[in-house]
Amino acid sequence: MKNLLGGKGANLAEMAKLGFPVPPGFTITTEVCTHYYASGKTYPTELKTQVEAAIKTLEECMGLKFGSSDNPLLVSVRSGARASMPGMMDTILNLGLNDESVVGLAKSSGNERFAYDCYRRFIQMYADVVMNVHASQFESVLESLKEKRQLKRDSDIVAEDLKKLCEIYKDLVFESSGKSFPQNPSDQLWGAVGAVFESWNAPRAIHYRKMEQIPGEWGTAVNIQAMVFGNLSDKSGTGVCFTRNPSTGENHFYGEYLTNAQGEDVVAGIRTPHPITKVDGKKAGLLSLEEEMPAVFKELDGLRLKLEKHYREMQDIEFTIQEGRLFLLQTRRGKRTAQAAVRTAVDMVDEKLISEHEAILRVDPYSLDQLLHPRLDPDQKGTPLAKGLPASPGAVNGEVVFSSQKAADLAAQGKRVILVRHETSPEDIVGMDASVGILTALGGMTSHAAVVARGMGKSCVAGCAELKIDYSSGTFSVSKNGERITVKEGDTITLDANTGDVFLGEIPTLSSELNEDFMKLMVWADRERKLQVRANADTPHDARIARRFGAQGIGLCRTEHMFFDEDRIDQVRLMIVASDLRERQKALAKLLPMQREDFVGLFKEMRGLPVTIRLLDPPLHEFLPKTAADYERLSKLSGRSGEELKEIADGLHEFNPMLGHRGCRLGITYPEIYEMQVQAIAEALIEVQTSKPGEIVTAEIMIPLVLDKKELLDLREKSEVVLDRAKLGEEQRRAIKIGTMIEIPRAALLADEIAGVAEFFSFGTNDLTQMCMGLSRDDSGKFLGDYVERKIFEQDPFVSIDQSGVGQLVEIATQRGRAARPGLKIGVCGEHGGDPKSVYFFHKVGLDYVSCSPYRVPAARLAAAHAALNSAK
Ligand code: PEP
Ligand code: MG
Repeated sequence: MKNLLGGKGANLAEMAKLGFPVPPGFTITTEVCTHYYASGKTYPTELKTQVEAAIKTLEECMGLKFGSSDNPLLVSVRSGARASMPGMMDTILNLGLNDESVVGLAKSSGNERFAYDCYRRFIQMYADVVMNVHASQFESVLESLKEKRQLKRDSDIVAEDLKKLCEIYKDLVFESSGKSFPQNPSDQLWGAVGAVFESWNAPRAIHYRKMEQIPGEWGTAVNIQAMVFGNLSDKSGTGVCFTRNPSTGENHFYGEYLTNAQGEDVVAGIRTPHPITKVDGKKAGLLSLEEEMPAVFKELDGLRLKLEKHYREMQDIEFTIQEGRLFLLQTRRGKRTAQAAVRTAVDMVDEKLISEHEAILRVDPYSLDQLLHPRLDPDQKGTPLAKGLPASPGAVNGEVVFSSQKAADLAAQGKRVILVRHETSPEDIVGMDASVGILTALGGMTSHAAVVARGMGKSCVAGCAELKIDYSSGTFSVSKNGERITVKEGDTITLDANTGDVFLGEIPTLSSELNEDFMKLMVWADRERKLQVRANADTPHDARIARRFGAQGIGLCRTEHMFFDEDRIDQVRLMIVASDLRERQKALAKLLPMQREDFVGLFKEMRGLPVTIRLLDPPLHEFLPKTAADYERLSKLSGRSGEELKEIADGLHEFNPMLGHRGCRLGITYPEIYEMQVQAIAEALIEVQTSKPGEIVTAEIMIPLVLDKKELLDLREKSEVVLDRAKLGEEQRRAIKIGTMIEIPRAALLADEIAGVAEFFSFGTNDLTQMCMGLSRDDSGKFLGDYVERKIFEQDPFVSIDQSGVGQLVEIATQRGRAARPGLKIGVCGEHGGDPKSVYFFHKVGLDYVSCSPYRVPAARLAAAHAALNSAK
């Protein structure tokens, strides 16, 4: 019932039903939130009496009374949306305390210190969340008190001081808000409920939803639950644990706790928490729960196994220990790194908890980017400056910044920044999003920084206690061998978030290796998918990476990239400035062997697989000299004066080059360019074939930017003449296909005619998007953000295909093309080929393959499997 009760509410109800130790409570549904926003922030009429009745039941259950001065009932009020949004919305604990009930709590617990500790926490939380009095004001009062008394921990403050603190806090509330702190528990409750609903639309929650693509209409539920206390004494405590390690996925109970603490203390990173297990405690040099409270640990460990069995999924559990008695406050699907997602999915299949299909569907294709995160070059590592916790993996380098605002500003200027904070809070979400990495001095593996960074797939080193951060001077310093090393804002540091090491300066990173679990999952995925996955690669190096990532061929080799090489650009330029055919052919003849070598390299890497080579595409002016030195060199080589060359360059100038003399239009005007390229392909095939007979390379020659079948026919016939003239073996010649890209809307509409001439289609969805939507692919980045912001587009159409518009052209061309030529092979080689959502769409349309950059091949393979499995459901 997640949709109605929110994730937290549904799981609490389910745990209660299963007999787990859950404090009693009730949930106000997400429907109330939807009603609240739809009807001018009012509640349904029946809500009040229902809540009153539920509180009464709670009182009976607990044998306590709301607001009583003898034995008061206290409750927690927490948000809980359908999808987990950790730390994004508000929570209030200890609600029900006032000047009278605090005396009751002191009496019933026999612990005055505890009662006033709860009260001061409640005043602060309530004032912060409901009355807009910022928590930092209370924290400064608390800090100065601790300083005055020379105390280290909050739990060292004595009852008398806490009592005084409550009075100061209430005065502070009045001074800041002009209102008294509410004493009536029922008023407190409704204030808190309203604040939770309001927090659904707080800027940070909106930002998080945008990142995670959670619809704003869902709303949040509100959970009201009897309080249990982790701050009663040193026999009490509170913690967060994962049924498996959320960073690595290892099947090892993993978590942290604090004794004599309440709720948010663990995630807030105020004190360094202790590990749950003895093994982790040893590593950290801290006492563990297993040692401190062995019976509680045993019970918790038993519950972890039961929960995993029930949910068949890794869980993230919040618990509180009240005087040695364990309570579970929440369980939810544990957020994890991509590495952990893969490992848990594969392990759970081995443990017979889930099927292979479920395992495939448990790993988000978008998250695979993370798996391919770089690591530090081990040869260039040096000595670390400091060490923290490896909270979210990867290795990054960037400039140090100390505020979220600065991070966002510099990132907008294209800088790579690392956000350095004491600890992060939900207010830092924008800055964290803008940074390549996050470094904090406080907090553990379940701190805000760690959890959020992991979710974002950002590298994060948390709890790096050696850092002395000074925000005012914009520096942090570390003591190293008796010497203080100071790092200023703007200095470059490197984080190795796989180990927790922090280095001064920039250390090069390497791409990561794919592990066994990943390979296993990919094999399962490959069994399910219908779409083939190829790579866009122009060099043997890229082709090798593509093959390693499982590419089933090359779907696009952009030959123009080969023209830019330093040793051949001069010949390319000579070809462009040639005054007649003979001169042009002379330059082309020099390019021929170079181009042949390119293809030989590529074919060798891709033996046994198809390689699609696209003939020259961009307008010639792109290759023209740029600097004075370029002109000088060309002048010497061509024997033409600088002025003459300038004139030629000016003559090639176009107002609209993307719609100009490019693609196959060049082939029409200068057939000798395409002829040279086709000849290079044929000669390369012969060379590769001779060196290793028996292994046929399937070359596919692809003609770009076609808009009419006659264009294609002309170029195809010319290519065939060249191929027929070459000394290709019969089988080899037969294996060569000549096809086209579909990049112009007209070509998509006339796909049936074009299919009569083309042996395959490949959608160039970059150009197709540009031309269908009339959006320049090079310039629209400046304003597309506004379109996404205003919800005109759900996403940038150059990132994820515009299914309703451009998608129609893809569907039409596929249907018409195949109607004219049954079984026509059709792929896509625009950027969308590596975008999981688009891959889903291409599967639905029935394409044969997608082609994308080598690093995106794994994500495309997994997305194709998801598409196949989900459409079979
Ligand atoms: C395309 O247009 O989608 C394509 C793959 O070609 P290019 O990006 O090289 O124009
Ligand atoms: Mg194109």
